[in-house]
Amino acid sequence: MRVVLDHVGIAVKDIAAALAFYRDALGLEVDAPEDVLSQHVRARHLGTGAARLELLEATSDQSAIAKYIEKRGPGLHHVTLRVEDIRATLAHLHARGVRLVDDEPRAGAEGALVAFIHPSAAHGVLVELKQAAPRGAELSVKRLTFGDLQLTMLHDGGIRLDGGAMFGTVPKLLWEKQAPPDDRNRIQMAMRPLLVEAEWGRMLIDCGAGDKMSAKHADIYALDRARHLDHALEEVGLTAASIDLVLPTHLHFDHCGGATARVNGTLLPRFPKARYLIRTAEWGDATHPHERNRASYLQEDFVPLKEAGVVDFFEGDEAIRPCVRVMRTGGHTGQHQVVYVESGGRTAVFVADMIPTTAHLQDPWIMGYDLFPLDTLAFKKRFIREAIERDYLILFEHDPHIVGGYIRETADGRRHVERVL
Ligand SMILES: [Zn+2]
Repeated sequence: MRVVLDHVGIAVKDIAAALAFYRDALGLEVDAPEDVLSQHVRARHLGTGAARLELLEATSDQSAIAKYIEKRGPGLHHVTLRVEDIRATLAHLHARGVRLVDDEPRAGAEGALVAFIHPSAAHGVLVELKQAAPRGAELSVKRLTFGDLQLTMLHDGGIRLDGGAMFGTVPKLLWEKQAPPDDRNRIQMAMRPLLVEAEWGRMLIDCGAGDKMSAKHADIYALDRARHLDHALEEVGLTAASIDLVLPTHLHFDHCGGATARVNGTLLPRFPKARYLIRTAEWGDATHPHERNRASYLQEDFVPLKEAGVVDFFEGDEAIRPCVRVMRTGGHTGQHQVVYVESGGRTAVFVADMIPTTAHLQDPWIMGYDLFPLDTLAFKKRFIREAIERDYLILFEHDPHIVGGYIRETADGRRHVERVL
């Protein structure tokens, strides 16, 4: 049972007067005011690192805060502890004879579930338990007609990776506002393969993590496979057997794990009719990993493909099929590539791990995982400028919410995505 301090609630007579101390004198940052009508309370939250302070002012005499102040004067009112499973926590406490105010959780602010423990059980402190609202990834299938092509952003469920590793040298103080971490410092991400349908067939670009991962690693990465690639394909009337070509951007497990499947103990190509198009040099790196990338290159994801004779190797930047070409970027891995899809005078680019999420739009926001971060930087400086000038539709494989859009830049250099998908 993980228990993390979420916030400390302080009952005050007058929030404006209290802010003169907490905000003006101490210099704490204040969130927008919040009125909890059902509780007859007005609240202001102040940032103090991982946990917050919550100032509470009564808005009517019936409020528990008014009664509290009348009886004991202003001061410390409650401590809120965050748990992952509030029902399990309540059952556990109940079984140990802990006196509870709420046997069942109730709805709190922002989609959270909350329940109070009686102060007598907590040695005079009112303790609130809180289970935060789940922040899952956007896992719906997005389709778009693009010139002569049909483009579909599929998904292979959700994954969470360490926030620090995802933002490299950027301090948590900055990235946690863009990508709030969970209690284990992981940020939510999606895995979205791109399906290109053309007159020459159906090509899948990347194919998610698949289902070969051990329970231990599935827990480390919070692999969420409640809905995965088979479900996404089914939504558009397809199955794994509908795929003619699979083109991985690189061979890391979250991009290529879905390329093979274990069937009765044997590792087989997951897409039974597909040819797998792999850059020769990436194959060389993936099959000769070193200590720094061994955890990302899992041999079971790609070696069985060669054994089955379904790999077509290619050497450089080339048109893989009409309207689809690859460009080596390096950076993330030595041979990482992005995929340009061009039809009807428009260009879409599947940027894979070069701009994994929309929180990575600024040039120096580069993953700690990258083997050659200065190459990533050089690529981003050139590519993002080009994408803005030429109106490329950018497809984000890992963003938890935004699937695709156009990068825009304001006069002071701030970037955002005008969302399309
Ligand atoms: Zn990735």
